[in-house]
Amino acid sequence: MIQCPGGCLTLYDWGSNTASRTKFWSGEELRCYLEGRINRIQSIVVTHHHFDHYGLLSRTFPSNKVELTGLRNIYVSCSLKKKSSLETWVNAIRKTFKDAKLKNNKLMLPNVQPIKRKGKPNSVAGQPCGPNDHPCQTLEICPEKDEVGVTVLAANMGGCDKTPNADSIVTKLTFGDLSILLSGDFEGVGPQAMVTHYKDDNTKPLETKVYHVAHHGASSQANKEDWLKLISPEAVVSSGDPWYQYRHPRCKMIKRLLQMDPVSLCEPEGKDDKTKCPDGTSKQSSYTCGNEKNIVPSTSTIDNNKYAIYTTTPGEQKMNLIHVTSTNDEGGWKITYENMDQIKNKEADDKDKTPDGEGED
Ligand SMILES: [Zn+2]
Repeated sequence: MIQCPGGCLTLYDWGSNTASRTKFWSGEELRCYLEGRINRIQSIVVTHHHFDHYGLLSRTFPSNKVELTGLRNIYVSCSLKKKSSLETWVNAIRKTFKDAKLKNNKLMLPNVQPIKRKGKPNSVAGQPCGPNDHPCQTLEICPEKDEVGVTVLAANMGGCDKTPNADSIVTKLTFGDLSILLSGDFEGVGPQAMVTHYKDDNTKPLETKVYHVAHHGASSQANKEDWLKLISPEAVVSSGDPWYQYRHPRCKMIKRLLQMDPVSLCEPEGKDDKTKCPDGTSKQSSYTCGNEKNIVPSTSTIDNNKYAIYTTTPGEQKMNLIHVTSTNDEGGWKITYENMDQIKNKEADDKDKTPDGEGED
C-alpha cells in the first residue's frame, strides 16, 4: 500500500486469494487493518494479469458494497483480461456503483485505466511503452500533492499475449531523497530491453534507493546482474514466501545482491550468523531464502542492521508484521519484526487491563 503525504492510498498488487493459504493475510485481517481508511483508497494498481497480484481484492472488498467511495482509477497493464476474476470483480464493483449513483449522484464511477503511451489521444491499450522512445502515461496516485514523483518506466513490454510478467507496469516513485522502484513480476524480455536501452545512460533513470524486487525475488528470468547493477539499490524489499512452492526470494538472487557493490553486504558465516567482511569488521545479515529444492532459513532478527536483507517470512509457519519506519535522525530506515501471535496476545492482554469506561483505543 502506498500512502501519499496528503493521506490518499493506493493498493499496489493487493495479493493472492488466501482461501487455501491460511497463513497469508486474509481479507478480514486486511479489512481490520484498513478500518476507517477504506474511503481514502483512490487507486488500485495491478501490474499484470496474474492471480497472485489481484486475487485478494475481491476477498477484501466485496463487490456488492459501496465502500470504496474514493476509488478513481484501476490501473492495469495491457487491458482487463476477459473472463478473469479481476474483470468479474471490477465489473461488479462498477455495477454496484452505478446502481448507488442513482440515489447519490456525487458518487464517481471508478475508471479502468490500461497503461498507454503518453500524450497520444488515440493510443491503443496494449502497445508497449517505456524503453522504446514511447514514454508511458503516468499513474495519478498522489493528485493532491505534487511533491511525489511518479514515472512509469515500462508497461506492456511482453506484447500482451503470452508473457504477463514481462507486461508488468514498472514504476519509480520519488519523494525528496527517497526513490522506490516497483516492478511487479517484470522479467525476461522486459528487463533485457531496459538494460539495452539504459546501460550507457548517465542520468541513471533506474537507479533507486529502495527496490521492491521483481517477481518476488525470482532469479532465472528476473533480477539478473546487469539489471540489478542499473538499479543499485540501498535497500531491498521482497514480497516472497520461501515456504511456498516457488521458494521466493531465491538464494541465488540474494547472493547477487550480496556480491554487488555499492550495496556491500556481507554474508553470514557459520551457525552464529557472524560475518567476515572485506573491511575486517563483522556484520550480520538477516534473511530467509529458497532454492530449487529447499529453504535456507535464517533465524536472526536484528534491528538497526544496515547490512541486512529482510524478507516477509522470518520463521516457518509464522505470520509476522514488518514495520518499516523512517528514522529522521539517521535519514535511514528502521525495520522491526513483530510476530502476529504476540500481537494477538498483546491485544487480548490490553483488553483485560483496560478499566471500564476508560478504553479509548
Ligand atoms: Zn507474482
